[in-house]
Amino acid sequence: MPIRYDNRVAIVTGAGAGLGRSHALLLASRGAKVVVNDPGGSVDGTGGANAVADTVVAEIRAAGGEAVASYGSVSDEKAADAIIQTAMDTWGRLDILVNNAGILRDKSFNKMENEDFRVVVDVHLMGTVYCTKAAWPIMRAAKYGRIVVTTSGSGTVGNFGQANYGAAKMAVNGFINVLRHEGQSYNIKLNAISPSARTRMTEDLINPEVLEYMKPELVSPAVAWMCSEQCDVSGEIIAANAGAYSVVKYFQTEGAQFDPVNEVTVDMFAEAWPQISDFTDAAPMGRSRGRLEARLRAMGRIK
Ligand code: NAD
Repeated sequence: MPIRYDNRVAIVTGAGAGLGRSHALLLASRGAKVVVNDPGGSVDGTGGANAVADTVVAEIRAAGGEAVASYGSVSDEKAADAIIQTAMDTWGRLDILVNNAGILRDKSFNKMENEDFRVVVDVHLMGTVYCTKAAWPIMRAAKYGRIVVTTSGSGTVGNFGQANYGAAKMAVNGFINVLRHEGQSYNIKLNAISPSARTRMTEDLINPEVLEYMKPELVSPAVAWMCSEQCDVSGEIIAANAGAYSVVKYFQTEGAQFDPVNEVTVDMFAEAWPQISDFTDAAPMGRSRGRLEARLRAMGRIK
């Protein structure tokens, strides 16, 4: 059975261009009713134009789908509430929220004003928080929800000149790590997309020969799966780039275990560093707590 979203209502923030537009078109083409949110504006978040969202709404309708525009900024708490309310007022339900809206204010940290940091955090982190906060009671009451956040390799591995962006993009991963527990009994699943795609954000930064293959439409199937009923995972980060899909995890080394009743000196730590940083027996984070307990038990420190 092909995956479809009939009778489902979706909101895609920042859906007027780039990846958000592609996500919205795919969801709508498979039956979702879509709120196309976008205030317009430039990559640094200044300016605005309703035509940006209106154009995508027109594209969806021309293809026989259902869509409505919303022009609020996710970084304004009241506007974020209104974005969610648009879905409720128009179709009376909300099943899917794709937190995609984003801006850049790149500068080396030395030259970056705190304001440039704050504005980027406000859109990427607080925008995701405000929209999710407004959607949460609706999804809890329905005992159903699919939420996607948009992270970036700039957070997981870092990128020169993006301290603000990398910090904000990493923060949304922590956000879903917690909410996946709180949403579990309500069938609310939250996952992250870590995309790489040719958009106005990246077109000047990547080798043009490679960029040709980095189509936004090759990121959207992963997002659409995370938005589907069939999605049975929560708290995952899925990377998507030019038709390649993979899962991103945090790993922890087996490390060194000293007896915690004794003092550990800085010299002992230094001597053990090769063992502490040896990834031979590293495991995804989460399982390591059990391993710690096993080690303490083996030492006779716990029962
Ligand atoms: P884009 O600039 O083409 O699209 C971003 C959209 O978000 C724009 O249409 C913009 O108007 C909208 N937007 C900006 N501020 C907003 C706000 N306050 N409220 C609502 N909408 C707002 O860029 P893109 O590459 O399509 O980026 C989409 C998302 O993917 C962003 O979160 C970006 O950080 C992330 N991302 C992109 C890449 C990539 O390779 N393109 C890599 C990693 C992460």
